[in-house]
Amino acid sequence: MNESSTQADLCTQDESAAAVEAVHISMRYGPVTVLDDVSFTLVPGSVLGLVGGNGAGKTTLLRCLLGLTPPTVGASRLYGCDSRDLTDPVRTRLGYVAQRPELYDWLRVREQLALFGQLYPGWTAAHARELSLRLDLPDDVRVGNLSPGERQRLAIVLAMQHRPDLLIFDEPVSSLDPVGRRDFLRLLFEHDTLHHAAATAIISSHLLDDLERVVTHLLFLQQGRVQLFGGRDELADCVREFDSGAALERVPGVLRSRRRADGSWQNVLDLRVLDPAVLPPTADLRALSLVDLYLALNG
Ligand code: ADP
Repeated sequence: MNESSTQADLCTQDESAAAVEAVHISMRYGPVTVLDDVSFTLVPGSVLGLVGGNGAGKTTLLRCLLGLTPPTVGASRLYGCDSRDLTDPVRTRLGYVAQRPELYDWLRVREQLALFGQLYPGWTAAHARELSLRLDLPDDVRVGNLSPGERQRLAIVLAMQHRPDLLIFDEPVSSLDPVGRRDFLRLLFEHDTLHHAAATAIISSHLLDDLERVVTHLLFLQQGRVQLFGGRDELADCVREFDSGAALERVPGVLRSRRRADGSWQNVLDLRVLDPAVLPPTADLRALSLVDLYLALNG
């Protein structure tokens, strides 16, 4: 057995490996730090919502995970395999929708699908056709004549048509109308699409209401740092809003302290970290929806 097949076997047969592991990733462009010590782990079957404002570093993080942009510091692994050196067996387990997908404008949709799909062992023309139908994607039109929303649907089918185990979506629905967004979510979360319970997904999106319904985990990124990470239900139980007369800045477990127009302070608390002694015994702690949490952290 040669060296590369040993590595391939390690990466594909270690079923106990995390689907995604980011270990102290930092990324700098010249003097600008775009990612700052990002670490998290996803076990197979997780669906992570990656949330953050424009320029927070979401695309850069996804590209680091996929090995497309090597980080300045740190490393990541997909199914135990270093992202900078992904083996072919691990690559075939991945599907990626880039923010600006590279498509071949001169091909017809079904030709584009077949050209890429045939590279993967799990691909069949019938499955590609079924996905196209489900997303209402015309398969005989030239790619160059598709509308922006249709191009995005094509990118989604391209990423899913070989039945990947790990799907990485970078704002997959930004050009889709409400029907398209609904069709995408239905497609993603039906059992026959993810085809087994261990399939994993990372979805970067600003459509927080949609995300809140489908994710198992959330990661808030702000200026390249992990502001908050955890299971969706865990965060629903542990993140609270609390009003105070003065700022609670620099207190461990206070994620944000923001002055309101009326002079009061809105604090976002992570009760997993906060020392309860910091709060008055009768403190009014309020739960937040994902949209309200996002606004409280970023507004
Ligand atoms: P997001 O996806 O959250 O909007 P990005 O990861 O696209 O954020 O970008 C994060 C920051 O990194 C932005 O300020 C962007 O301008 C910068 N950036 C991204 N790619 C490069 C690059 N190749 N060279 C220099 N700066 C970059």
